[in-house]
This record gives sequence, structure tokens and C-alpha cells, in this order.
Amino acid sequence: MIIQEINKIDIANKKVFIRCDFNVPVDEYQNITDDRRIKSALNTIRYCIDNDCAVIIASHFGRPKKGYEEKYSLKPIAKRLHTLLKQEIKLAPNVVCDETISIANHLQSGEVLLLENMRFEPGETKNDPVLAKTLADMADVFINDAFGVSHRAHASVEGIAKHFDIEHKAAGFLLAKEIKFFYHIIEAPKRPFVSIVGGSKVSGKLEALRNLVPKVDKIIIGGGMAFTFLKALGYEIGNSLVEDELIPEALTIMEEAKKLGVKFYLPVDVIAAEAFDSEAFAKAVTIQEIPKGWMGLDIGPATSTLFAQALEDAHTILWNGPMGVYEMDKFAKGSTKISHAVASSYATTVVGGGDTADLVRRTEDEDEMTFISTGGGASLELIEGKVLPGVKALIIEK
Ligand code: AMP
Repeated sequence: MIIQEINKIDIANKKVFIRCDFNVPVDEYQNITDDRRIKSALNTIRYCIDNDCAVIIASHFGRPKKGYEEKYSLKPIAKRLHTLLKQEIKLAPNVVCDETISIANHLQSGEVLLLENMRFEPGETKNDPVLAKTLADMADVFINDAFGVSHRAHASVEGIAKHFDIEHKAAGFLLAKEIKFFYHIIEAPKRPFVSIVGGSKVSGKLEALRNLVPKVDKIIIGGGMAFTFLKALGYEIGNSLVEDELIPEALTIMEEAKKLGVKFYLPVDVIAAEAFDSEAFAKAVTIQEIPKGWMGLDIGPATSTLFAQALEDAHTILWNGPMGVYEMDKFAKGSTKISHAVASSYATTVVGGGDTADLVRRTEDEDEMTFISTGGGASLELIEGKVLPGVKALIIEK
């Protein structure tokens, strides 16, 4: 699949609308606690400024439900963008009111206008064609650089793109890089290709697992989702997280892996606790010995060693989902060990999903990973083999 890219079209002196993903975490005082999503969009924004474009930027932020809400305003993001770009950022009073449109119409080359939170407009998530057209009318060129929302058919992601021909719309540098990485990894990985899947729920990752089985050499399952597989195999898992209705599906996945010769790894021991609590009494037990009423909240030491060993000969590692409740120090050891094992491997390593990205930052392995994806849901849908709605409009060749 080849998609149109920003450096392949003529944007010089044009008015450019860039959809970014500035949905950053903030604390209770509205301080941005992690600005990676803003920083990773700078390449595209600077490229437009350097090409004398007038730049209109749009993003969503949080989940406002009833129009304008101060706590969801992009004010803190405008400030951070100002600090990073070292130039004035005009923050529009809203998304598409007359005043905003007038500011957009008068925007000069080199100037940057940030629209207010896209989700203040109810039409955004409904992919309202009128809103999409109004946004499109603001600019000559549309750039999508919001990988994190490209799996959503929203007005500023999908609807807007319909109003531009292929010479006037493209993926920004960030989106192009993410798409290329995932397609390359899924379609032409260097082998052995190992996928590590963790996190809380099987349901959220079932499609991705199904699509991965025929493509990988090994699958390593950790986190809460492992217990559905372990229960399917007949183990007593106490009060550990489980999705009973998915047990037949878990069995099918394991049978399919066996048929295809894919090595399927599950935990052999866990850190079990009396309650879901950082103060709870906890101990390492083999999966045969999880006490009644206890829950497995991390992989155990034998499992960490086993998984690390299974990773040793990998040439490609795709990792999505932590091995335990890494937010609590007591249950973070397994995830930390796996993070170090992935980081110290000689494989191409791709980390996807917000939690896993957060985890490798905490373990200080971030710089050792080949690629950390900014979008969790979007990367899973790519692995599932779907064409993302926000990318579809930018395809030149299938
Ligand atoms: P997900 O959004 O599906 O990737 O899940 C991430 C979440 O899974 C994190 O917040 C972890 O705390 C949680 N998690 C990982 N392992 C377990 C477990 N054994 N039991 C409960 N929650 C878990």
C-alpha cells in the first residue's frame, strides 16, 4: 500500500490544514504531564512553516460532551506549542464560528492558527458532512498527521479528506512513518518474529491475535488476558481477570497456533495477591497453585526468565500490552523485566499502545526501542489487517 506523503505534494505558500493528535495527558491543574504527542507532530508543522504555508492545526483533547468546556480547551496545548515552536500560536475562540473562519481567511504565510477542541463540535464524531466541508473550505491542502485517531471516521479525519484531490492531501511525516512501520512489520518481518501481547482484556485484542497467529513465529501472552487462556486449558485461576465467554475463542487461537507451528507461550507462574491493592499480601506461585480467591496481578520470576529466553533469537518483536498491573510497583517487576529484555535484544522492536509506551518510559528503555507507536487503538486495527478510515483517502496504490 502506498499513501500520498506530505513531501510528495506541492504545499509551498498554501494554506494547510493539519489534523494532529494532541490528546495529551494532563494533571488536575491542567499541566501537560507528557508532551510526546505534541513533539512528534513538530516535524510536519515546521516543514509547513518552512514552506511558507499558513498553518491551521486541529486536534481533539479528552472527551467533552456538551460543547465548550474550559477544562477541555486547547489553551495548555497552544502554550506548549508556542514554547516548542518559539513562535506565536493564535488560538481560535472555537472550531468553526464566523470569527474563527475570518481569522483563518486572513492567516498569513508562516502564521499558525490552532482551532479549539474538535470535539466541542457534536458533528466531529458523527462525521457530519457540513462540518467536514466547513473545515475543508478553510484550506488549500489537507494533511493528516493524527495516527492515534486515524481508525475513527470523524469529520476532521475522514470527512474532510473527501474535499481534496490526491495532489492536495497527504499523510504528515508522523502518520507516514507509523503506517510504513506497521505494514512492513506485519507483511515483511525479519524472522523469528515474536509478538508479545498483554494488558487486561482478550476482547480488545482478539482480532489482532487472530491476525497475528498466521504471521508470527512465536506469541507470548502475559497480563490479565493470559488467565482466559489458562482457564481454557483447565487451570484454577482464582479471582484473576477472566472473560469466560471468550474461552472457546482462546482455545481456537491456541489450536490454530499449534496447527501452524507457532510457539505459544503462557505464564508458568504469577504474582498472586489477596486483593487488587498495592498493600495486599502477595506471593509468587506456579499457575498450578494460585490460592482460591487470590488473583494473578503480574507474571512470576520463572515466567520472566522463560519469556526473556524466548525473545533471545528474535529479529522482530511487536509488543502491545503490559505483563501485569505495572502502575503498582509491587506488580511491575514482570513488565520491567520484559521491557529490559526487549530493549536489550538485537531485534527491530515496535511498541504499540498507550500503556506499553508509558511502561517503557518508566523503565527508561524508551530510547532502546526501534519504534514506539503513538496510537494504541489505531495500531491494533492495523495489526487486525484493517485499512484505517483516515488513511483510506490518502491511498495512491493498493
Ligand atoms: P489494555 O488496555 O488492555 O492494554 O490493558 C492495560 C491494563 O491492563 C493496565 O492498566 C494494567 O494494569 C492491566 N493489567 C495487566 N495485567 C493485569 C492483571 N493480571 N490483572 C488485572 N489487570 C491487569
